[in-house]
Amino acid sequence: MVAHRVHTVEISGIRKMFEAAPPNAINLGLGEPDFEPPTEVIEALVSAVRDGMNHYGPSAGLAALRDKVAERYHDRDPRTGRENVIVTGSGSEALMVAAMCLYDRGDEVLVPNPGFVLYGPDARLMGATPVAYSLPSTRRYLPDPDELEKLVTRRTRAIVVNSPSNPTGAVFPAKIVEKIVALAERHDLTIISDEVYDEMVYDGKFASFWGRTDRAVIVNSFSKTLAMTGWRIGYLVAPRSLALDLNKMHYHIMACPPTPAQVAVIAGLSNGTAATRAMAREFRARRDLVVRLLNQVPGIEVVPPSGAFYAFPRFTWDRTASEVATALLRRGVITTPGDAFGSLGASHLRLSFAASRENLKRGIAIIGRYAESIEGVAPG
Ligand code: PLP
Repeated sequence: MVAHRVHTVEISGIRKMFEAAPPNAINLGLGEPDFEPPTEVIEALVSAVRDGMNHYGPSAGLAALRDKVAERYHDRDPRTGRENVIVTGSGSEALMVAAMCLYDRGDEVLVPNPGFVLYGPDARLMGATPVAYSLPSTRRYLPDPDELEKLVTRRTRAIVVNSPSNPTGAVFPAKIVEKIVALAERHDLTIISDEVYDEMVYDGKFASFWGRTDRAVIVNSFSKTLAMTGWRIGYLVAPRSLALDLNKMHYHIMACPPTPAQVAVIAGLSNGTAATRAMAREFRARRDLVVRLLNQVPGIEVVPPSGAFYAFPRFTWDRTASEVATALLRRGVITTPGDAFGSLGASHLRLSFAASRENLKRGIAIIGRYAESIEGVAPG
């Protein structure tokens, strides 16, 4: 009865775990900050609703917000203006809009393995074929430019990149960004760069694709930076002519982004994102804690994540990631099986450290006891 495309995608493994969890389970599963939006943002939302900002706005977003976002990108390209910015109803919608605008039936799209759960399905929904490029633990989850070159065919239309990465926490060094830009220019590809964690970098410096080439479309979101995953607001930054086409697709999905949320976000950005920086400092401390605790668990290795708020430990047990995540769920901790992000996520778990230090300690203690039960080590 339903269209063929419905059968090409499934509900993500992240959601399945979350929905199967017992009450009071420690949640290291979902990727959302355990913070509330900054007070001035909440106040601005309430005032916006009270003051009658409850109606449709421009499809591409309020001019004042587009200007604020453009300003944020001036250090990457000083020519960035409001015409480059489309405000969307989340990063997820931004990814879908990019897919609708850029992929035709029969195209191939290079997507990361492991990688965020929407990239492959968004391509398939457009009748395109996702072609995975590998981000193995042995390369600290970074891409190999030579492999990318080999994967490009006549049909390759675009490459999706995500740094800092969900699920691995890897941050691409500038050298890799340059190589991907060169690849895209050589083969006439568009780069869809998902930079939703660009403010959460703990080691080294974040290298954006914006300002490096006129072939990049940036996907970003306020979900994580302003702790408002439930508000559903994000944006695209793109070359001006492409932005007009992106806006056309966006209009057909949602007419315009939510007006009161946009007013509130403007207040958040006016504060110079001090709240975001404070949150990132806390995530960095938790990153150090999680890495230290995981390194004490027998049978587990972890590459310290340089950004985002996920650790991606690899285990050596003769179990599938789903078996491990299900066993842990029964013991009271929600994790996400690594293979929900692609085949190279096998033998991995994704742990979100957007959870309190207390819950991280308790959750990893449960993982430790589980590991000891498998390894036959007496709990110490
Ligand atoms: N991109 C990445 C890498 C993500 O991790 C997420 C959310 O987890 C998104 C995009 C989508 O975020 P949202 O739709 O909440 O803006």
